[in-house]
Amino acid sequence: MTYDDVLERYEPVLGLETHVELGTATKLFCGCSTTFGADPNSQVCPVCLGLPGSLPVTNRRAIEFTIKIGLALHCEIAEWCRFARKNYFYPDMPKDYQVSQYDEPLCTDGYLDVVVDGETHRVEIERVHLEEDTGKSLHVGGSTGRIHGATHSLVDYNRAGIPLVEIVTRPVRGAGKKAAQVARAYVTELRDVLRDLGVSDVRMEQGSMRADVNVSLMLPGADRLGTRTETKNVNSLRSVERAVRYEVERQAAVLDAGDRVVQETRHFHEDSGSTSSGRVKSDAEDYRYFPEPDLVPLAPPRDMVEELRATLPEPPSVRRARFAETHGYTPVDMDQMMNAGVVDLVAATIDAGAPAAKAKGWWLGYLVGRANDLRVDVGELAVTPASVARISALEDEGSLTNKLARQVADAVIAGEGDVDAVIDAHGWRVAGEDELIAAVDAAIEASPDIAAKVRDGNQGAVGPLVGAIMKATGGSADAKRARELILERLSA
Ligand SMILES: [Zn+2]
Repeated sequence: MTYDDVLERYEPVLGLETHVELGTATKLFCGCSTTFGADPNSQVCPVCLGLPGSLPVTNRRAIEFTIKIGLALHCEIAEWCRFARKNYFYPDMPKDYQVSQYDEPLCTDGYLDVVVDGETHRVEIERVHLEEDTGKSLHVGGSTGRIHGATHSLVDYNRAGIPLVEIVTRPVRGAGKKAAQVARAYVTELRDVLRDLGVSDVRMEQGSMRADVNVSLMLPGADRLGTRTETKNVNSLRSVERAVRYEVERQAAVLDAGDRVVQETRHFHEDSGSTSSGRVKSDAEDYRYFPEPDLVPLAPPRDMVEELRATLPEPPSVRRARFAETHGYTPVDMDQMMNAGVVDLVAATIDAGAPAAKAKGWWLGYLVGRANDLRVDVGELAVTPASVARISALEDEGSLTNKLARQVADAVIAGEGDVDAVIDAHGWRVAGEDELIAAVDAAIEASPDIAAKVRDGNQGAVGPLVGAIMKATGGSADAKRARELILERLSA
């Protein structure tokens, strides 16, 4: 049963919880560095290790960043709120509780509009709150890296205490068959908003932005939501879409068999695009939250909020509209580029010197397909917009045929080096006129029957000759010029 079939019969309901590590220089409640990739446990202190007698002090910059996120998402900013202790016993949380926000989040009731296939979907934001990230456990000695089968575990507290913002949507309904695309478009748009705000490096592959994807199915017209599952820590845009599709199909199969969907967290598997059962979760998970007694309440003054509002950059949607107008892209062009997630890449390729039509053509017409073949997000392809612009320029000036240009792009993606190094190493260049004429003559001589047909005026017969020339020149011939030469040679 396919996704589209399922959604003829069920209405999908989404919920997205996105965690974003803020790009502050120091942690949320201490002065430890937040730089990624340092030696384990080299960025820790008594506060973030939860040692007795240490006291936290809130990072002002983290509060400002969170308010800016709230404002950019059209939220109300609380006049007074408190941090809460979320109590749980887990080795990656050295205090045995996490300082978070519970019933008093800093930002509430916002929205983010996303466009899919030219249609705007408003995703309502329930809350944006600030909390500290946990450390990382590493299970050693087993074959899978999971705790099962491991001989021992190590824990790295460098990440413990890094400010983490959680952005929670209200249930997203009415997207129908577009649900998976809406989920991806929402996370993409949110990433762009956060990046433009300068509050996070939003690198999903490094885990500085990660999404929990809630999915449930209901019968059309039903008055209550179905049981949902929560697929945790989905860490690429492509995977967000795949996780929704997979859960829709899986849950439909469960419901069609007369069974019940179990409310649980699930793990997403990049290789297979599937999810598997994690832990069963009830709605009333009791973490025994209580107000954090070591921290003063947050009461951001209104003039501070307004000052922050005045610093907001223009929204990505406005930036994109101007981009479309400047470069003459139609609404259909923009839709295609948005759906493929290449607007910024195309813009950067234009900035690097490529004409607008070429920049769009390269990304939409070739590189998106390559990314799909390689099963990565297009932004993760190892070819920069500057390289694409260079390849495009070489193609335009006639140094590369379209076929060669694509070969060059493939070699750059495969990590063979930069554009010019790849061309030098392979000797890829367009065949010169002399070489081309020799290949044309050889092809005509090798296929006298075809040559005779062309000579008799059947220009449609020329294809095999061009093919032979392309083969003889290793793809380096300009096919259009080859055709011209053949017709010149064979004209009466
Ligand atoms: Zn610290």
